[in-house]
This record gives sequence, structure tokens and C-alpha cells, in this order.
Amino acid sequence: MLKVKNLSVHYGGMQALSNVNIEVKEGEIVSIVGSNGAGKTTLINAISGLRTLTNGEIEFLGNPMAKVEAHNRVPLGVVQVPEGRKLFPIMTVEENLLLGSVHPGAKKYRQETLKEVYELLPRLKERSTQVAKTLSGGEQQMVAIGRALMSKPKLLMFDEPSLGLAPVLVRDLFNIIKQISKNGITIMLVEQNVKQTLQIVDRCYVLENGSVTIEGTGKELLNNDHVKKAFLGM
Ligand code: ATP
Repeated sequence: MLKVKNLSVHYGGMQALSNVNIEVKEGEIVSIVGSNGAGKTTLINAISGLRTLTNGEIEFLGNPMAKVEAHNRVPLGVVQVPEGRKLFPIMTVEENLLLGSVHPGAKKYRQETLKEVYELLPRLKERSTQVAKTLSGGEQQMVAIGRALMSKPKLLMFDEPSLGLAPVLVRDLFNIIKQISKNGITIMLVEQNVKQTLQIVDRCYVLENGSVTIEGTGKELLNNDHVKKAFLGM
């Protein structure tokens, strides 16, 4: 579904990503793990079209995408749940959700998708008229996920969704991600919560200083000595 080929991104003279190669197959949950500043958000933003590439190509469903503008990637099915949620704080839950479905391909199914989102995330239905800034952190994360689902994604990219959530909410979040995957959406998951992530993913890439250093299945990486030492505190 997604092929990232020899991708490099610079911020001025600073190279944030260097010759990154990543593949995500339809139906997979693939994660990108790495420490702070490794380049994970830069990678997601490059795939979303929010960062210009210095080099490389991004192919989505067989078509080159590097020159497609960000707002034209969403209708193709490339959607992200951004780090920090980025909700519209004085709009209600439902208004935030509906903003996910402004492109014609999603607008057409708006009511049907909203019903599905409320089924998956029932708390949002209870809170549909509450303004976003008064929600708890966990509820805000659910709105960000719901809004992304309203866009009818084919590839849904999560950028550190568990950040700032209590352990019990992190468990719920991972269950929701698994459910979204079962519903047929391909998932790319950027996380620092490495142990739980490796337990649910099909495959994983380790990003260090802007380069992919290790790749493998979740199980392989859980048993990898470097991963154990660097990310699992073992
Ligand atoms: P974190 O886990 O802390 O969010 P990350 O792996 O997502 O980190 P990025 O945010 O992609 O890392 O940052 C990669 C590198 O690029 C870092 O060194 C960061 O300081 C730098 N960087 C990111 N955004 C910018 C920017 N807008 N201007 C300049 N440098 C940037």
C-alpha cells in the first residue's frame, strides 16, 4: 500500500531523515519506534505532505505521491492522527468530528460514518455537545481518532497517541487501534510505548538519528538485544 523509498528530509542544514525505506502492506499494523528526536514525526509529516522531501519518493497504492499536496492526500486515504491531538478547542465534539469529513468522498457518507465512530467510541456520543477544550486528555485523543476516521482513511497514521495517558487508558487505546485494524484500515503507529506497541503490531521499524536501523516482526523486535536495551529497559 505504502512504499517510502530513499526518503531524506532536511530542516535547513540539519538532516532529520536519511535514506529511509519503509513499506506498509494493506491490512498491516506497522509501527515506527525511536527515541525523542529520531525523526518519527518528520516521517509521518512527509507521508502526509506536510514536509517537503529533499530526496526520495513516496508511493501510495502504486502511484507516486511526493508531488501531491497535503490536502489532496486525505481524499486518497492518507490520514494522520497528529501528535498533541490538535483539536479545535472551542468547537464541540461533533463539530470537530464533522470537520474530518469535508472532502466529497467522505461527506457523502458523513452520517453513516458518524454512527460508526459513535459505535466504536461511545464516550464521544455522550459528549457530542461538549466543547473540546473541556474534555479529559483521553477523551480528546478519542476525538482526534474519530475525526480521522470521519475522513474515510485507507492508511491511518497515529503519532504518539498514548502520550500523556494513564496506563488504563493506554490499554483502551491499543484495543481501539486493534479494532480499527480489524475494521479493515491499514495502520502506521508511531509510539514510545515500545513494549505494548510491539505486542500488537505485525512489523516494526526502529528509527535512530533519522535512519532505519532495525526492522522485523513485533516478536522479533521484542527479542532483539538492542531493542531490549535501548527501549525496554532490560
Ligand atoms: P519526538 O518523539 O520527541 O516527538 P521525533 O522522533 O518525532 O521526536 P522529529 O520531531 O521528527 O522527531 O524531529 C527530528 C529532528 O528534527 C529533531 O532533531 C528535531 O529537533 C528536528 N526538527 C523537527 N521539526 C523541526 C523544525 N520545524 N525545524 C527545525 N528542526 C526540526
